[in-house]
Amino acid sequence: MSELIRDTLGRPLGSLRVSVTDRCNMRCRYCMPEDDYVWLPRASILTFEEIARLVGVFAGLGVDKVRLTGGEPLLRHDLPTLVALIARDARITDLAMTTNGLLLATQAAALRAAGLARVTVSLDTLRPERMLAFAKSPRHADVLEGIAVARQVGFEKLKLNSVVIRGFNDDELVDLIEFARARDAEVRFIEYMDVGGATRWSMDQVVSQREMLATLEQHFGAIQPLSDDSRAPAERFRLSDGTTFGIIASTTAPFCRSCDRSRVTADGTWLLCLYAEHGVDLRDPLRRGATDEELAALIRDGWQGRTDRGAEMRLGVQERSALYRLESLRADPHREMHTRGG
Ligand code: SAM
Repeated sequence: MSELIRDTLGRPLGSLRVSVTDRCNMRCRYCMPEDDYVWLPRASILTFEEIARLVGVFAGLGVDKVRLTGGEPLLRHDLPTLVALIARDARITDLAMTTNGLLLATQAAALRAAGLARVTVSLDTLRPERMLAFAKSPRHADVLEGIAVARQVGFEKLKLNSVVIRGFNDDELVDLIEFARARDAEVRFIEYMDVGGATRWSMDQVVSQREMLATLEQHFGAIQPLSDDSRAPAERFRLSDGTTFGIIASTTAPFCRSCDRSRVTADGTWLLCLYAEHGVDLRDPLRRGATDEELAALIRDGWQGRTDRGAEMRLGVQERSALYRLESLRADPHREMHTRGG
């Protein structure tokens, strides 16, 4: 049985994002634009057994959705073993992963067999030359193959994440919807966020939900909002032919009021908000021999004291610019999006 705990704004502890590595094999301009980074020390990275144990403690406090992320989660050796460890916990009813897809074709079958239920692939552009320029990767074909293989091995409800950036891919909204439709997948357009790592962020590059809808309406005609799961960050919409898509409007219309998610970094730092300045160290008590009850007490206290509304607070910032400069990210890599897990 799980206990139901709520934070100071009445929000339950519901979904957990687990970053399994801070490393990535892409260098997206909006996340990891530098060639090199200050990496988490190897000895600090949680083992699969440590991650599974923490997930179990979170599950006892109400977490039922787990998403594996990173960095690039498929860079973590033998990820299916971790998937199997988490999947056997019946309290986790939704086990998903977000990946850039580069290594998905070779690993999709094993992940599926291990019990991974859902996959989201990040795909910002359908044009290889744009991916090369924007993410420093020439492997666009591998991402497309990863998507195809994921479908073949039985991942249904495949989602594609596209961060929309003015002047980069804002002319591909229609193409991305059509690409997804042809593969029985669903696109979720994400507003460009000023998170750690997005050191080149500026408001004029953000394409708002409103603007995306206007562009899509011009092409497809009337768009109907769907009444959706209030726990999900994406607002979902339907075109007149039944095609659905989502928009995550974290920058212009944040969903802090219903946010039930928190994150554990690869080194066991628990973050209660994507924008949080600090996290709670779970690795130290874990490695010092804390019992599950002691770990649960730490998590319960943290969640019950949670006041975070990071994205809403950013809305109030005058002359908003990048959240962090490169020097402060280098001083504490926990501020990086690729460490926190997107
Ligand atoms: N490497 C995996 C991937 O590419 O999907 C997982 C980690 S990545 C940090 C998770 C998601 O965060 C991706 O869909 C990525 O596009 C998104 N993301 C990263 N930086 C972002 C930003 N500045 N604004 C909006 N979304 C961002």
